[in-house]
Amino acid sequence: MVQLSRRQFMKVTGSTLAGSSLVLMGFSPATALAEVRQYKLAATTVTRQTCTYCSVGCGILIYSLGDGAKNAKRSVVHVEGDPDHPVNRGTLCPKGASLLDFINSPNRLLHPEYRAPGSSEWQRISWDDALDRIARLLKADRDANFVEKTAEGLSVNRWLTTGMLAASAASSEAGYITHKIARSWGLLAFDNQARV
Ligand code: SF4
Repeated sequence: MVQLSRRQFMKVTGSTLAGSSLVLMGFSPATALAEVRQYKLAATTVTRQTCTYCSVGCGILIYSLGDGAKNAKRSVVHVEGDPDHPVNRGTLCPKGASLLDFINSPNRLLHPEYRAPGSSEWQRISWDDALDRIARLLKADRDANFVEKTAEGLSVNRWLTTGMLAASAASSEAGYITHKIARSWGLLAFDNQARV
């Protein structure tokens, strides 16, 4: 099929030939434009995700290149609303529509960092070190401050010296499990912008 842009198509039809004849011959600009778009995304992998920004929790489709082969660099090349998602039905607000810039931002934090008390310097640490440290500190604080009973002997099993703020990008299932864990520890100060 001959590829024509919309502008070229209008020029041709306006000068010599009738549009209907061209369509019969396969000169359709709509088909030509659709083919270009399909070609652009044909080699990508599509991943379903949730927008990271706010509690609306819109569904997004992330298109990435790189199939894991040696020397193939993975990169996200396109983000759009998920038309099958019950929350947004394919639409995105301006923040969600700019997610590609957020994903590829050179300022994006990709690794855990630690700043020692009194220091002005951040140092990069591994995920293992970060998670071990968080677990150690949580346990130490809970061991020291967990309240089983009030002075009057009322059972409360609560831990008031630590709070948890979870993220709205979690799915309902992940939110349910997060809630169960926080409450099983005795945490009362627990919130989420999506209200897990
Ligand atoms: S696309 Fe907009 S409304 Fe939807 S979750 Fe993201 S920030 Fe919120």
